[in-house]
Amino acid sequence: MGSIKYISRLFQPTITIPKNAKIKNTEITCKSQKLLLELGLVRPTSSGLLALLPLARRAIDKLEVLVRQSIEEAGGQRLSLPALTPAHLWEKTGRLQDVGPELVNLQDRHGHKYLLAPTHEEAVADLLADVAPLSYKQLPLLLYQISNKYRDEHRPKHGLLRAREFLMLDAYGAHAHEQCARDIYRKVGEAYSKLFDALHLPVYRVEAPSGDMGGSLSHEWQVCARAGEDLIEICPSCSHAAIPSQGKQCSRCGSETDTHSCIEVGHTFILGTKYSEPLKAQFTSSSGVSEPLIMSCYGIGITRLLAASLEALSTDTCLRWPRPIAPYSAIIIGPKEGSKEWLSHADSIEQVYHQLDSIPSLRGDVIIDDRHNMTIGKRLMMADRLGFPLAVVLGKSMYSGQVEVYRSTPGRQFESQLMTLQQMNEERTAINN
Ligand SMILES: [Zn+2]
Repeated sequence: MGSIKYISRLFQPTITIPKNAKIKNTEITCKSQKLLLELGLVRPTSSGLLALLPLARRAIDKLEVLVRQSIEEAGGQRLSLPALTPAHLWEKTGRLQDVGPELVNLQDRHGHKYLLAPTHEEAVADLLADVAPLSYKQLPLLLYQISNKYRDEHRPKHGLLRAREFLMLDAYGAHAHEQCARDIYRKVGEAYSKLFDALHLPVYRVEAPSGDMGGSLSHEWQVCARAGEDLIEICPSCSHAAIPSQGKQCSRCGSETDTHSCIEVGHTFILGTKYSEPLKAQFTSSSGVSEPLIMSCYGIGITRLLAASLEALSTDTCLRWPRPIAPYSAIIIGPKEGSKEWLSHADSIEQVYHQLDSIPSLRGDVIIDDRHNMTIGKRLMMADRLGFPLAVVLGKSMYSGQVEVYRSTPGRQFESQLMTLQQMNEERTAINN
C-alpha cells in the first residue's frame, strides 16, 4: 500500500460541530457520524450521500481485503455486474412492486427502464439463465461482487449506517439441491464468524424470518451498539441471540434474556427457486432433466460494518477501530520545533519511522505528525481522537534513550508505556498486536 508519510500532506478537512448545530445536508444523530465528520474522514455531499475521504478510504480498503479473503475461503469467485439492472427483471420476480419506493429508478434515452440495484438476485439469476443450461457437474457455484449499492431511503440518517449509496459484499450461491445449498450456507456462515472474530466485534447470529427475499432459511448478523435500530434478545448464560418474540426466556437454556440495540451488518438466505423459477435459471440434473437452480445469497454491508464497529468500540470523543482496519497502524510524534528536545532529537524522527516501517505488518502504514509547531500534548490528543492503535512519542524521555509508546484500546483513552528504541525493536510482536 503506497501512502502519505506526513500528516501535514493528508487531505483531512476537520471541523468543529457546535452542540445542537444543523450541518449542511445532514443531521448528526450518532457518534460514528459525528466523529467521522469532525475528524475529516467523511463529508456529506447531499442527503444520505457521503464522500469517503482518504483516512476512511484506507480503512474501507483494509476491510474490503478481509471480506474478500473470507468469502474466497468459502469458495467465492469474484465478478462484477453493472450497477444498472433492467427493471423488467424485477417485474418478473414481483419485487419492482414489493420494494417500490426504495428503488432508484431511471430511464435511458430510448425509454428503457432501469434501476440502480440495491441487490442483484435478479441480475445473477438472469446471467445464469443466459449461460444455461448449466450441468449439475458445474455446481455448486458461489459468485460474489463488492460494489456500491443504492437504496432511496425515505429518511437517510446516521451517516454511513443508513446511506443511500453504500458499499456491499453480495454473494450468490447456485445449487442443484437444498442439501448442497445448506452446505455452502454453513461454510459462508463460518467465514462470516471468522471475519467478525478477526475484527474483535461482538457480532451475534440471529435466526430471522426470510421476509420479502423468500426462501427457507435466513440469519441476520447483528453488532450490539447503542445507535442500532434493531433489537435482539441475548441470553446472559449461554449467549444465544434471537429476535424479540413474546417471552423473554432463552429458547436454549431457559434463562431470562436481555434486550440489546444492534446494527445489522450481514445477512444470509437460502432463497430456493424464488428467483430462478421466474427468470428461468436452470440446470441439467444427473438424469438429464432441466430444473430450476436452488439459490442462496449472502450480504455484508461494508461501509455499514465500518460505522457499526466505530459505534461499538469508540468513546464519545475518540474513534476506536478494530485493530486490522485502522487507517494507519502507527503515528510518530516528535518534539515541538524550537524546544530543547527538538535540538537534540529531531533527527531521531526519521530513524524511528524507518524502524517501525521495516516491521512487515506496518510497512506503508506508519505516518509522522510533522506539525511541529504544535506541542506534543496537542498532537497526542489528536492522535488519541483519531484512534491510532499505536502512537510513538519522542519527548523528554529521549534523554534517557526511551520513547513513550501509547496504545489505544476499545472504549478507553490512550495508555502509555516507556520503551527504549532497542526494546521497541525487540517487541515487534507486541507492537504488531
Ligand atoms: Zn440461554
